[in-house]
Amino acid sequence: MATAKAKKKPAAKKKPTARRLLRSKGSPKPARPAARKVATSKKAAAKKRAPASIPDPKPTPRPTPDMSGRSLLPLNILLIGPPGAGKGTQAEKICGTFNIPHLSTGNLFRAAIAAGTPLGRQVEPLLREGKLVPDAITIPIVDARLEQPDAAKGVLFDGYPRNLAQADALEKTFVRLGRKLNRVILIEVPDSAIVARMSGRRSCPTCNTVYHLVANPPKEMGRCDKDGTELVTRKDDVPETVQGRLNTYADQTAPLIAYYQPKGLLSRVDGKRTPEQVFESIHGELQQR
Ligand code: ADP
Ligand code: ADP
Repeated sequence: MATAKAKKKPAAKKKPTARRLLRSKGSPKPARPAARKVATSKKAAAKKRAPASIPDPKPTPRPTPDMSGRSLLPLNILLIGPPGAGKGTQAEKICGTFNIPHLSTGNLFRAAIAAGTPLGRQVEPLLREGKLVPDAITIPIVDARLEQPDAAKGVLFDGYPRNLAQADALEKTFVRLGRKLNRVILIEVPDSAIVARMSGRRSCPTCNTVYHLVANPPKEMGRCDKDGTELVTRKDDVPETVQGRLNTYADQTAPLIAYYQPKGLLSRVDGKRTPEQVFESIHGELQQR
């Protein structure tokens, strides 16, 4: 054994790159009598060397992704958190950084309502009252969105899944499409902070950018910084509805935590800090996935 080791180590220094590449592809190792001779004659010297100074004869494996920025793609991420936790705010930062589409079921429903489509007319009372849209409507909408070409590089899910049935459906869809869920980010904010966030929330109906009257005001009061559209207050952001939505979250959405945790997919992020600090934590979690 010791002889075999001594044979290999000094010879490794002389291996040309092409030989390494060929060997890594499984080609038979060519005979190298000259190298063996040199190795035997240097056996004693090799033994004396400190182990740290002996080069490893095996080629160093090089993982293809460099674990930074867009090289993480495809990247499928779920954002979970109570209403007002900051999912939409973080979604904008995550999607901008990784260049993946933002799939917000809430935004899709609100766009349908604004356009007066049959779907919009059907879901309008449910959104106004803070009730969940039935799975039979929601799941096919998400599945159809995932079939679009831009979703192949990954998707940031915001507000979906919202219950265990939707989580199961998403898992099946991923299997069917040959994709995988990379990480579930849970943004944690106590209920006591939520009402203040909701009452100050203003949104752009054109580009969905979210503002807050105090924490994140637009440059010009009442107008979107990006496209100048007049900002709106969501009809479901009134205190009476907010409490009902928090209850729905606790009953139907919070069980997703126990669903994803054993799969090793869940990262908890403290959402009480500034949006920039929250994003820094999320970014760190995504780098370690
Ligand atoms: P928030 O995160 O502030 O609760 P969303 O924009 O995610 O707001 O959702 C707004 C409303 O849209 C919900 O209260 C619900 O009526 C409906 N909705 C959004 N996503 C879903 C979903 N995945 N399943 C059922 N209903 C949904
Ligand atoms: P969600 O999508 O989870 O319902 P939003 O991103 O729409 O939440 O945020 C709700 C409100 O809270 C918005 O007015 C937003 O500007 C504000 N907000 C978001 N993140 C923070 C934060 N970290 N600190 C303070 N306010 C925040």
